[in-house]
Amino acid sequence: MGIDELHRLSKAPRLRLRVTATAESILRAGHPWLFADSVREQNRAGQVGELAVIYDRKDRFLATGLFDPDSPIRVRVLHVGKPRVIDRDWWVERLDRALEGRQGLFNDQTNGFRWINGESDGWPGLVLDRYDRTLVLKLYTAAWLPRLEEITGLITTRLRPDRIVLRLSRNIQKLAQQQGGKADGQVLLGPPLDGPVTFLETGLLFEADVVRGQKTGFFLDQRENRRQVEALARGREVLNAFSFSGGFSLYAARGGARSVTDLDLSAHALESAKRNVALNAANASVASCRHEFVQADAFEWFNQQAGCRFDLVILDPPSLAKREDERSGAIRAYGRLASSGIEHLTRGGILVACSCSAHVVAEEFFETVRRAAANSDRTFKELRTTRHALDHAATFKEAEYLKAIYLKV
Ligand code: SAH
Repeated sequence: MGIDELHRLSKAPRLRLRVTATAESILRAGHPWLFADSVREQNRAGQVGELAVIYDRKDRFLATGLFDPDSPIRVRVLHVGKPRVIDRDWWVERLDRALEGRQGLFNDQTNGFRWINGESDGWPGLVLDRYDRTLVLKLYTAAWLPRLEEITGLITTRLRPDRIVLRLSRNIQKLAQQQGGKADGQVLLGPPLDGPVTFLETGLLFEADVVRGQKTGFFLDQRENRRQVEALARGREVLNAFSFSGGFSLYAARGGARSVTDLDLSAHALESAKRNVALNAANASVASCRHEFVQADAFEWFNQQAGCRFDLVILDPPSLAKREDERSGAIRAYGRLASSGIEHLTRGGILVACSCSAHVVAEEFFETVRRAAANSDRTFKELRTTRHALDHAATFKEAEYLKAIYLKV
């Protein structure tokens, strides 16, 4: 029995909210979050994951969404506009819309990508990533927990995976354990896992630690930038700073780089990078490229290795601003990092600087890197800037985080 049926049986009246005028217009414009301080009236206490109906000032239906009494984001909107019953057909339609949105984006050389990207696909706080026959369902809000079985069932019927792995953001792990006995990394469907899964991205093989790895095991969001790097790498000595499992490096190697150096703080990440090189040893370009691995703090390493030069430097640090008050510090760090990258470039060298901090907006980041370039004693040509890939599309401001800028000396 689903949570909605349970509520019908319990005969509790529908959870109804009235909201401030500002919130009303924000929701009407399509923003998917209703914040707790925008709730003016509520007919009763609601439970986590319950469907809440939001009414406008004239008492007309405005939106429906998932209620969470413990989150400052009190309702995550599922539907806005005309009243609609949220039943199984509705969920099926919603899933199919996300799946259809990926039709034609990938051929059989890419079986790792994002099927559902949260709010931007109408699934607030829920991500579904594909790694070949394994799917990873990642929840960022407890509001999905009471619906987990229903959603897993739906995904199984539609996509017929061999396996579904559940990942939970840190803030909901305790509740998931207490209320449903669900743990981060748990296999919900299919055979257990005793190591990473492998998948194809643009014809390259990669492993993903879907049970313990960051995000859902791999940075699928950087695929398009990796493709660009492949096209720029011929004959170059490449530094992949913040390499993680070497994603950019494999593309650069296949693109004809003479050498690639993976630089990461994590020994674990570098071990994975080595295995990824081995997985692609059959590719002649990958095999003939020199692969180096350096375990170090990138900020310190740049200062220590003053004389070292590369023809292509990739900077893809983790989020440097997790909160709004870290924003200005992050911008300074991006500036320092870009300057370091530039100092380590040869004549004709290329800098690819990425940022995944949602609190630093794209233009601000681009300007920071451009300023670092202007302050160096070299002349730069801007090749391009990039944003979110199509399977990671962001439909509202808070969902935008990824941006990259390409500069050539
Ligand atoms: N470019 C990667 C993703 C990078 S994620 C890809 O395409 O898959 C960020 C990486 O930075 C992580 O692997 C993390 O271990 C590493 N990291 C974090 N802080 C670091 C530091 N100070 N110096 C070097 N690496 C760091």
